[in-house]
Amino acid sequence: MLNLVLFGPPGAGKGTQSARLIEKYQLVHLSTGDILRGEIANGTPLGLEAKKLMDQGILVPDEVVIGMISNKLDSNPGAKGFIFDGFPRTKAQAAALDQLLSEKNTFINAMLALNVNDEELIQRLLSRGKDSGRPDDANPDIIRKRIEEYNAKTAPLIDYYKAQDKYTSIEGVGTVD
Ligand code: AMP
Repeated sequence: MLNLVLFGPPGAGKGTQSARLIEKYQLVHLSTGDILRGEIANGTPLGLEAKKLMDQGILVPDEVVIGMISNKLDSNPGAKGFIFDGFPRTKAQAAALDQLLSEKNTFINAMLALNVNDEELIQRLLSRGKDSGRPDDANPDIIRKRIEEYNAKTAPLIDYYKAQDKYTSIEGVGTVD
């Protein structure tokens, strides 16, 4: 199996690069943000709870997203591998992911971290917000909050994956190629 964590702040291009990697390696794409937006669109109780946090740019609780990923791993038994997009976002999530994968006798091969400066991120998200219809892309204060959440809770995962010798930094500006 090939299991990749696609890592980076909001607006770094994780979704764009995932699409390329999935095509090349035929991986199953698991984006917790997409799964949560699906729950919101379906009006589920989980979606309604998550929306309150997402609209403020705050992370949803670890147990919610860990449960979602666990279900998706179980429901794709024949996968060639997975690409994790927007997950893990905290150390607890990263540890849970290692545990879930080890129960399936597999592991994360690499963490690919996209580097983009804050000003570029804000511009990209505001411009995406015009088409995406995402409330959390429409407001500069919410975008800043998401970047703050990333810096406080998610960026420390770089050290987590460095310690496992799985961290690779990639320039996230310039052409998509
Ligand atoms: P994204 O589509 O990855 O930008 O995620 C949008 C929002 O969904 C985030 O701002 C969080 O509120 C929530 N979210 C997505 N993935 C996670 C995660 N792994 N942990 C906690 N919250 C998440």
